[in-house]
Amino acid sequence: MSYVIPAVPVVSVPVVGRSERFPVRRIYCVGRNYVEHAKEMGFTGREAPFFFFKPADAAVVVPEGETGTMQYPSLTKDFHHEIELVAAIGTGGRNIKAADAMKHIYGYAVGLDMTRRDLQGEQKKLGRPWEIGKAFEQSAPIGPIVPAAQAGDIEKAEIWVQVNGKDRQRSSVSKLIWNIAEIIEHLSSAWELAPGDLIYTGTPEGVAAVVQGDTLVGGVTGLPELRVRVG
Ligand code: MN
Repeated sequence: MSYVIPAVPVVSVPVVGRSERFPVRRIYCVGRNYVEHAKEMGFTGREAPFFFFKPADAAVVVPEGETGTMQYPSLTKDFHHEIELVAAIGTGGRNIKAADAMKHIYGYAVGLDMTRRDLQGEQKKLGRPWEIGKAFEQSAPIGPIVPAAQAGDIEKAEIWVQVNGKDRQRSSVSKLIWNIAEIIEHLSSAWELAPGDLIYTGTPEGVAAVVQGDTLVGGVTGLPELRVRVG
């Protein structure tokens, strides 16, 4: 195959214990999926889950034991971290039931849903799409994927992020409003999931701003830590 302009390379994530990598197709994100974070954003109650996208090339792929770099983005004065468990889809489908959902997961990784909070807030107020606040370059740092069978009891894992060695967010995956299987049921009723899809499952409370020079270390029990510096 030849192209009239250079073709976009496939974005891929390393897999722990394997030389082959996980190729990324889409990045789905779940909004407001932990009770205390929904509250800090001004919402209460269990609403149906909702979703937004980031482009695959928003991923900042950080190998195990390394520190990645994301550039402080343009236009914002309020660049927020959201630590999230990421589910990587191995087999796709439409209208997947929650009872069958877990077998569609290839593995899990630690991710950050980086957000230009001031721009997101302006768009919300105007009733406009969130892309400028959420779907910009380098907005989706991710660590290595651990195959599901080796990830332990991920539904009860602790999830945290530290900035410059100090706790910012610390919670448990058990506090998800919509658990992983339920997310997949809802998501696959709206879009056909396919191998290579990543799902950022939502963030707990404690979202806050970072500045140039900060180092973020995110973790989920059972998965390699994600280290990334704001350049
Ligand atoms: Mn998020």
